Amino acid sequence: MVPGSILFICKSGEIVDAEITVIGAGVIGLAIAEKVTEEYNNVFLIEKHETFGQETSSRNSEVIHAGIYYPEGSLKSKLCIEGKWLLYEYCKKHDIPYKNCGKLIVATSAEEIPVIEGIRENALRNGVDDLTVLNREQVAVLEPNIYALKAIFSPSTGIIDTHSLMKRFETRILNNGGQIVYRSEVTGIKKIEKGYEITLLDADNKYFCFTSRIVINSGGLTSDKVSEMAGIRDERLKIHFCKGEYFRINPPKNKLINRLVYPVPHHNMEGIGIHVTVDMGGGVKLGPDVTYLDSNIYDYRISQSKQEAFWRSVSKFLPFLGYDDISPEMAGIRPKIQKAGEPIRDFYIMEETKNGYPGFINLIGMESPGLTSSIAIANYILTLIRN
Ligand SMILES: Cc1cc2nc3c(=O)[nH]c(=O)nc-3n(C[C@H](O)[C@H](O)[C@H](O)COP(=O)(O)OP(=O)(O)OC[C@H]3O[C@@H](n4cnc5c(N)ncnc54)[C@H](O)[C@@H]3O)c2cc1C
Repeated sequence: MVPGSILFICKSGEIVDAEITVIGAGVIGLAIAEKVTEEYNNVFLIEKHETFGQETSSRNSEVIHAGIYYPEGSLKSKLCIEGKWLLYEYCKKHDIPYKNCGKLIVATSAEEIPVIEGIRENALRNGVDDLTVLNREQVAVLEPNIYALKAIFSPSTGIIDTHSLMKRFETRILNNGGQIVYRSEVTGIKKIEKGYEITLLDADNKYFCFTSRIVINSGGLTSDKVSEMAGIRDERLKIHFCKGEYFRINPPKNKLINRLVYPVPHHNMEGIGIHVTVDMGGGVKLGPDVTYLDSNIYDYRISQSKQEAFWRSVSKFLPFLGYDDISPEMAGIRPKIQKAGEPIRDFYIMEETKNGYPGFINLIGMESPGLTSSIAIANYILTLIRN
């Protein structure tokens, strides 16, 4: 049992009423639990792993996105733009390591120049008005070692230590009087008169039940399954695992890059291209790529065979990089609700009264920019609960 975890709902057969139950202690579930514990008592956060952030929230690029690419009027756009400022503010207030290092989106061929100009226009429509277009010489001042014919510079992009952020959320949930239950998997949700009856399976293979007035499904990669447990089944909410693998630049060449460098994005926004991300520890990652998995299995293996493709892809703008200067790093899995080749879909964040499930809030398809948006999402959920 971790400090602050509860024992009392874990007694066989005992029924306890919760006001709000959040399922899933990734960065979004934690942010929501922190926010709602400021206003409500009897809040439970349930997580099947032994601690927070064991899935997507610790397998990502750790970038605070500016909100450049997302479709106008989408939740992704709105929550990312609001979320980045809230996240910077939160980092300052709570001593979370972060760096507002900025990012370049580079055109490496004549055909890509109009694409980056289109990106800038989209960003402007979304209210991101701080982008500047740089010519070759101006790029060289910022990043002397990269190749670019033209680039967009985004000054509000940054990086963050996600583990510290999640740790701070956890501490504040507990300080606010919230209860965190690790090693307990939600296996059943039944609608009852005053809310929902939730069944948990703990590490000793014992089942427990309790009731909750409001349930928030922040189950990440299996949030579609959690929704189905309650009875909300919808083909359009099925999650498709989409893997992203990373390589790293080996020392000493990692020192040749100071900020984030992105190529122009993929068609359909399946990903935003194999990019270069610096991290808070001084490491430089390349990736992630985009591979839909045949089935929803947790496959975090990294394919050494992709080294050639990664190297070729980034050597267009990192001419100093030799094939042997990169090594496999890690992989993450995106919880996508669009299938391969389909157009980008928005976050699905819904209070499910219209489907006959009042007080059940679904968060499905919470891929990037979920980390950047986490605090804005928490505020949005609080508004849904109040209403
Ligand atoms: C490769 C990659 C790169 C990314 N890069 C960025 C980036 O740079 N910037 C950005 O803003 N976003 C990025 N993202 C997106 C970001 O990582 C996610 O949006 C965010 O981590 C999702 O958080 P979450 O809490 O919804 O999910 P998760 O972190 O997956 O947490 C869900 C939790 O729910 C738990 N759970 C599920 N089912 C149950 C159950 N039945 N019972 C109990 N617990 C359950 C799981 O164990 C898990 O801990 C990236 C994602 C990927 C994959």
